[in-house]
Amino acid sequence: MSEQRAETRYDVIVQGGQVLDPGAGIAGRYDLGIRDGHVAAIAPALDPADAATVIDATGQIVTPGLVDLHTHVYWGVTYWGIEADPVAARSGVTTWIDVGSAGAYSFPGFRRYIAEPSRSRIFALLNLSSIGLIAPTWEFANPDYWNVDLAEQIVNANRDLILGIKARIDQNTTRGVGIRPLERARELADRVDLPLMVHIGNGPPSLEEVAALLRPGDILTHCFTGGTMCILGEDGRVLPQIRELQARGLILDIGHGTGSFSFAVAEAMLAQGVLPDTISSDIHQLAVQGPMYDLPTTLSKFLALGMSLPDVIERATARPAAAIGRPDLGTLRLGAVADLALWRLEEGVQSYRWHTPSTGSA
Ligand SMILES: [Zn+2]
Repeated sequence: MSEQRAETRYDVIVQGGQVLDPGAGIAGRYDLGIRDGHVAAIAPALDPADAATVIDATGQIVTPGLVDLHTHVYWGVTYWGIEADPVAARSGVTTWIDVGSAGAYSFPGFRRYIAEPSRSRIFALLNLSSIGLIAPTWEFANPDYWNVDLAEQIVNANRDLILGIKARIDQNTTRGVGIRPLERARELADRVDLPLMVHIGNGPPSLEEVAALLRPGDILTHCFTGGTMCILGEDGRVLPQIRELQARGLILDIGHGTGSFSFAVAEAMLAQGVLPDTISSDIHQLAVQGPMYDLPTTLSKFLALGMSLPDVIERATARPAAAIGRPDLGTLRLGAVADLALWRLEEGVQSYRWHTPSTGSA
């Protein structure tokens, strides 16, 4: 044989795994061929001789790399920040959306020292508060920091990284100023035409005041909070206002964190047929010590609550990618970026330890 190829057809073949990409409707035993960082083939059997590297995924589940819609990775500058890369390597989260760690004053540093050098793919939702989450609380207590004009400038100069606006609205962040910062965040999101993510917890303000300012495509994070802004009414039913908003396109996001996820609320929601639209971690320097730990642990809670594996995976891949306007991520479609995660699904008894944080939530 005289034929010699200078290079193989694929750089990598991931062989023999159960591929699961619910967003693309892919489920089954397939080999994946990867070339130049993109999915170049997905087929029942590829020839291992066609790849420089073959990864044996027999007995494993192969999904798109996870997309975590609620994280805090501005390490060293903000109270909540962790480093993304060490956690990414062990948790399968390849795309991180940092939500509100940086405001207008601190975004240039976030860009240069966090987003650009990280091996993980990092995007941001810009905090309306110019100081972002430097401190655990009070970022909206001073109205001087609700600088819509400056935030608009920062968004327009960084649209490759800034994919939305963030506002934490609860008693610890808005102390004394009520709903007004959310009105400014609404104005900002409308001006730059990006989704608005709103964090809820313990009011004031009330959830009704918040809901009045939400639009289709916006994201309500900590949606299963057990705080006073709980989306269940006194009768234990999901508030009709929220159901109607979700039907029109409001995204209900988990944002587990330390104090923002109630099993009781989750059980009630699922029993009423209301599933979260996205499952995110709200990973931060307290939550990584439990009860959240990481996104896969959070996903496993929803399996324990009775959701199916495809429903859970879709809510941590294609759906959060769509929420930030990047449907090219969180998928294994032909031509997609080859972000992959390999899993083993293990059954057993798992204790989800609970502790009550003393410092609010991010
Ligand atoms: Zn958070």
